[in-house]
Amino acid sequence: MREHSHDLKYPNEVNDLINLDDPLIHGYLLRLIGEDGITLIRNMPEGEVTDEEICNALNPLRAVSKAADDRVKKLNIEIKAAKEKGEETKKLEKELAAAEKEAVTAKENVGDEKEITLNTVRKILFILYENKFTICHRERDANSGWLTFRWMINMDGIYHQIEREKKKLYRNLVKRKEYEDNNIFYVCPQNCLRLVFDEATETEFLCPLCGEDLVFQDNEPFKELLDKRIEEFEETA
Ligand SMILES: [Zn+2]
Repeated sequence: MREHSHDLKYPNEVNDLINLDDPLIHGYLLRLIGEDGITLIRNMPEGEVTDEEICNALNPLRAVSKAADDRVKKLNIEIKAAKEKGEETKKLEKELAAAEKEAVTAKENVGDEKEITLNTVRKILFILYENKFTICHRERDANSGWLTFRWMINMDGIYHQIEREKKKLYRNLVKRKEYEDNNIFYVCPQNCLRLVFDEATETEFLCPLCGEDLVFQDNEPFKELLDKRIEEFEETA
């Protein structure tokens, strides 16, 4: 499979400010917007751009192919108009033949370029927007009345977000540790479920799903794991 050009120097200044290869940042963004999202940030064109421009930047070979198809369409329309007016079309026909040939080659070149669709681009932009990682300007075309959204990425808040996420994770770990400390657990040997003591007495120590006898679970190893994770957090805090 063809690789995107994201190994090259990042084209936009956003990426000069944050290091996308920092494991902490990479991990955070992977959870938030996935690999396609990271590819989008890496290949984001400079300035304020539309979702279509972003999509073209992510699918450069497809963009070339689409432009070639558009040229063929345009020439066909021009030829038709010229014929209706009784004008000479020889020159246009020649251009059309060349354009058609280019379109075929461009289509072949697309090959296995991994496609990131416009829909995917929009989804990623929306998630980034919700997390305040984009600046979006709306522009109304004076003639057509169409609204155009122009996007820019601004990752300034990312360290703050990661800090917040870490704190939340830490709180969850501590809470989970308390829960494990304060309860006794029974599990189904078929791995259907895990119950605390009171729940297990209610089902008379039988699995409510498969009917097997529930067995006591030693949660010491899990508690040790939680302690280790909590310690790691405290060390890096
Ligand atoms: Zn069971």
